[in-house]
Parts: sequence; structure tokens; C-alpha cells
Amino acid sequence: MDLNKDVKFVKGVGPNRVLLLNKLGIFTLKDLIEYYPRDYEDRSKPKKIIEVLDGEEVLIQAVVQTKVVEARIRKGLSIYKVKVADETGFMEITWYNQPYIKAQIKQGEKYNFFGKVNFKYNKKEMNTPVFDKSSNAKNTGKIIPLYPLTYNLSQNVLRKIIENGMQEVEGNLPETLPEYILKENQLYSLNMAMKKIHFPDSFEDYENSRKRLAFEEMLIMQLALLKLKGDYEEEKNGIEFSKDVKMSDIIDNLPFKLTKAQLKVLQEIDDDMENKKPMNRLLQGDVGSGKTVVSIIAAYKAVKSGYQAAIMAPTAILASQHLESFTQILSRYGIKCELLVSNITKKRKEEILENLKNGQIDIIIGTHALLEENVVFKNLGLVVTDEQHRFGVKQRSTIVAKGNNPDTLVMTATPIPRTLALILYADLDISIIDELPPNRQKIDTYAVTKHLENRVNDFIKKQLDEGRQAYVVCPLVEENEEINAKSVLELADKYKEEIFPNYRVEYLHGKMRPKEKDAIMQEFKDGKIDVLISTTVIEVGVNVQNASIMVVENAERFGLAQLHQLRGRVGRGEYKSYCILKYQGNSDVVKQRMQVMQETNDGFKISEKDLELRGSGEFFGTKQHGLPEFKIANIFEDMPMLKNIQIISLKIIEEDPNLELEKNKLLKQAVDKKFMAGVDM
Ligand code: ADP
Ligand code: MG
Repeated sequence: MDLNKDVKFVKGVGPNRVLLLNKLGIFTLKDLIEYYPRDYEDRSKPKKIIEVLDGEEVLIQAVVQTKVVEARIRKGLSIYKVKVADETGFMEITWYNQPYIKAQIKQGEKYNFFGKVNFKYNKKEMNTPVFDKSSNAKNTGKIIPLYPLTYNLSQNVLRKIIENGMQEVEGNLPETLPEYILKENQLYSLNMAMKKIHFPDSFEDYENSRKRLAFEEMLIMQLALLKLKGDYEEEKNGIEFSKDVKMSDIIDNLPFKLTKAQLKVLQEIDDDMENKKPMNRLLQGDVGSGKTVVSIIAAYKAVKSGYQAAIMAPTAILASQHLESFTQILSRYGIKCELLVSNITKKRKEEILENLKNGQIDIIIGTHALLEENVVFKNLGLVVTDEQHRFGVKQRSTIVAKGNNPDTLVMTATPIPRTLALILYADLDISIIDELPPNRQKIDTYAVTKHLENRVNDFIKKQLDEGRQAYVVCPLVEENEEINAKSVLELADKYKEEIFPNYRVEYLHGKMRPKEKDAIMQEFKDGKIDVLISTTVIEVGVNVQNASIMVVENAERFGLAQLHQLRGRVGRGEYKSYCILKYQGNSDVVKQRMQVMQETNDGFKISEKDLELRGSGEFFGTKQHGLPEFKIANIFEDMPMLKNIQIISLKIIEEDPNLELEKNKLLKQAVDKKFMAGVDM
């Protein structure tokens, strides 16, 4: 059995289907069997006809009483009807335009029918049910997995393919968790869990399988994070930055007074920097809480102690924005800052690389370009990465490796509750800025439905006429850049032609080339564009002080934490700013969520509410939060299990820091594999 063999060799997969499977991200047998159901349909418990309720989806077992009667209603519509019965009553069953029914349904035979029941004039009927012979049931009589599909691939076909794949591996999957872990935590074996996650005999079966698979995912993540932290803390001798370089010297000369929270985190950072152990710290703070200046002060300390600093941002725009802020504060201390992004001339780049190597440049600020091999430092002492969730652990370690155990500071504006942060950033110490600088204007937030649209548009026009600019964020369609791009284009057309024909409207989406994106963003920054329509690519901390309006279309589709991030794009200058959340839907949860956004501007409160109101099965991915992506675990619902797993993994790592014991062999394999894949954690 070769788990890595091409899925095209699985029974039932022809040249067409292999393409469809590829679309779903299934390339190998392993991918196929790890393609877990998104839901299940209980077709296992038959009801008697007398028991069924109006509107219920249900399984009945009944004998066909009549021949299939065909009736042509009009051109293009034929219906096929039979009467069926069990010991308790009759039911009428109808299919539309399915002539093959006549050959498939035989009078006098017993079938399983699964479908929705309607009561009509005291008669019970079922339309277009799934059915098969009771004596040989394949699609009914059990719990049926439902998979995420793609166009042209049906549930039945995909289910059959996965069944075939499972048959090849059944009982032979090598176990991935140590025996003692399975025992102590009463977990299913891998073979059992894989079989039952696809084809559970009961919902208890399903729960147990899910538990086992989620447990494994979260355990390996925790172990990997703890190991990272251990690697940092143990052997390594980091830099002791000079105690004679006082942060207060620069703090006293800032144009503003730091908040208490900023001073507190700076103290933590200062202590770390003077300590021999390499700093490995996460700096969490709401948008606008003043993280950048904290990193500037840390960089000052590093440079004045004789080292270089590297600041890595996810986009070129952000990097150049940082350059501005750094230069503004640091140039008077004779500290030289440079920008390194990908679209500069070759000559310029060579110059920068040379000066970085010989130590002429003190602070380099850039994008992924900093990760390239030819970027070499004289003595890198501090690494700052901004907006943590855009970078993976591997990228962080690539840049860290350019110094000799430099200190690292990871900044994120994703406010997640502290308990969760402690677990998910187990490899980092955490500092939190939980206070905004004083005299920040509150961003007035209004949640509106369609009937207020005209008034909203008039309001925006008024702001534009006063010289302000507006962002419009498109609904999140799904994690599919192509569809998102399309919806941006459609929305841009509407705004350009119908709503704001007299203003300059432009758009941005993730499918555009970075250069194009940066160009548009620059024009918006320069005030040449009035209204900028985009996907969430603008979510990252770009500063356009003149933008005073944020409109979010279909706000109900976003997570609250993300709405809060988006809102943070406005209110960055002197102008009174507004956030308009256009939403649809009447559900209480939607209304409550909108209410939260209107009431509070506190990111931490919002993220807690977000967790509280987040129902299961919602499609908001964790990606928006910058949290790790799991195949099956759900950080929110599985929080109790995650807490337990944290305790378990701490115990394991305490006893066996490098996972060298024989009993932990499998864990070591899995953790190593995770590092090799460079997976985001
Ligand atoms: P963040 O990166 O946390 O989103 P920034 O560092 O960009 O926030 O800060 C937002 C703005 O607030 C910047 O213009 C910064 O100069 C300013 N700022 C930072 N700290 C303070 C403070 N203590 N008082 C007044 N303004 C501040
Ligand atoms: Mg920022």
C-alpha cells in the first residue's frame, strides 16, 4: 500500500475525474482518504409512514404498490409517480423528468426512500427521494457522509471513490500516535478513526473519530511550538544588549507621551534584550495602539548597542510606511535606515546589500525580499516581523538564521483572548498593549440594511466632496481568489457607473500583481483616488490619514475580529471617521454581531464576543485570525480539548525535551515532518 501514489490509480478514477479531484486538492491516495466529510446525513433510522412529520427529511422502507405512472404536464416537464406502502400507511412518490425511473422502480419490490415529506390534502408525499432496494442498500440505511464538492462531481461519485480508496488502506494504515497516548486518552486507533470518520455507524462513532484526529493535529502543533521554544531557550546564547543604552533617552524625546501600556511592554522588551537568552516575544496590540514606535525604540537599543536590526513587513507599502516612521524618529540619532523591497533597480539593490554587509546600514526594513540568500548582515541583533500572521514560522526562522541568535519581536494586531494566545503562541512570550493613545477619535460605526443604501451613498458623497476618501470592502465569497476578484470587478462597475460616476473609483484584489497593487495603493495614499474597492487585501496596517470612511459590503459574512481590523484602516488622521457595515439577514446572531461592532471599539472585547457568538459550522475560516489551519480540529469548539492537550504536551516535553525516547518516536517523526513542510503554525 503506497499512500503517496497518484489518486488516478484508485478504482473509479478516470482521466476526467482525476482533474476534478485535483481541483479539490486531492492528488494522492493520502489526500483522498484525508478528505474529510463536511457534514453527515442520517439515513440510518427508518420511520414508519404513520410516524413521519410534515416537512421532515426521513427514511422510509416501503413496497411499491403501483406501476410507475408517467404524465406529461407540458413541454419539457414529465412526472413519474408511484404509490408505496408499509404496514402503517401509504405515500405517493414523485420524480420529475427522470424517465429511467420507469425501469428502476418495480411494482411489488421493497425500497428504501430517503427524502423530504410533504402533507397535501391529508395525503403524504415525497418528491425526488434518494432510493435503493432494501435488500441491497448503498445510498440509504446508514449515516451518509457529505463532502465538499466541485462542479460536475456528485456526492455519490465522490463517496464511491473515497470508499474505494479506503478499501485499499483499510486496517493497514501505520499508527501515528504512540500506544500510551491512545490508551491514556481513550482514543481510537488511526485505522478505526479513518474508517469511521468517513463511514460512521453512529454519531458516537463519528464523535470518537473526530476527537482522535483533532487530538492528533493539535498535539503535534503544540509539541512543535514547545520544541521551537525549547530550542530557543536551551543551548543558545543570545546577545546581551548594553545596559548603558537607555530606552528612556529616546522615549523622553518623542513627540508624544507613551501610554502606560507601551511603557510596560517596553520594560519587558528591555529586560529580554539585556538578558543573554534570545528574546522571542509576541507583541499584541489593537490597530493604532502604537506598536510601531515600540519596535523603533527596541531597534534604537539594538543599534546603539552595536548591532543591526531587520524589520520585515508583509507588503512593500507597509515597509515604506515603516521606513518613514523609523527615519522620522531615528535619523537625529545618526541611525541609518534603508528599504529593501523587490522592485528596485539591480544597481540600487547591490548597493544596499553591500552596505548591509559592511555595516553601513543600521536598520533594514523590507518585505520577503529580506529572506533571500544574498541578504547578509554584518551583525544582525534584532529581528522584528510585523503583522505576524502573514509570515510562517519557517520564514521567521530563515531571517533569524542570518544573525547569531538575534532577539526577535513578532508584532500582531490580531487581538485574540489571552488564554487562546497562550496556547497558540506557545513558542513565544507575550506582551500586550491594551490601551490606545489618548484623544483618539472613536470611529462611529453604523450597521445598515438595504433600505438605507441611498442615504448612506449621499453621506459618502458629502464626505468625498469635503475632500475625504473612502474604502469599500467586498463581500468575502470564499477562500477562492478568483471568485473574490470577480466580485470586486462587479462591485467596482456598480460603484463607477451607478453610484459614484463623478468620482474616481478604483479597485484592488488579490489576483493582481504586487506591482499593480502597490501602484493603486500609492495613488490612493496620494489622494488621486476617491473610492477604493477591494477585497480584504487592504486589511494590513496601511496608513491613509485622509480616508475617513470604511464601507463593508455583506458585513455579516465577516468575522468580528476581521471587521475590527478593517475598521482600523480609517480614523488614522485628524478627520472624524465612520465605518458603515452593510448587512443582510434577520437572524439574531447577525444582529447581535452588528450590535457589538456598533457598541465597542475594543479589539479584545470584540474577539471575545466573536468567539461567544460564533456558532458551529460557520464558514469563517481561522485564516482571518491568523490562527493555524487545521484539517479537522476547530480551535473554537475544541478549546477544552486544546487546553488539555497543552498540559499533555508540556508533560511530554518536560520528560523528553527532544523526543528521543523510544515511546515518543512517532511524535518525533510527526513534529519533524511539520517543520520540514514549513507549515504555518
Ligand atoms: P499600530 O502599528 O499598533 O497599529 P502605530 O504604531 O501605527 O499603531 O500607531 C498609530 C499612530 O499613533 C502613529 O501615527 C503613531 O505615531 C501614533 N502614536 C503611537 N503611540 C502614541 C502615543 N503614545 N501617543 C500619541 N500618538 C501615538
Ligand atoms: Mg502597524
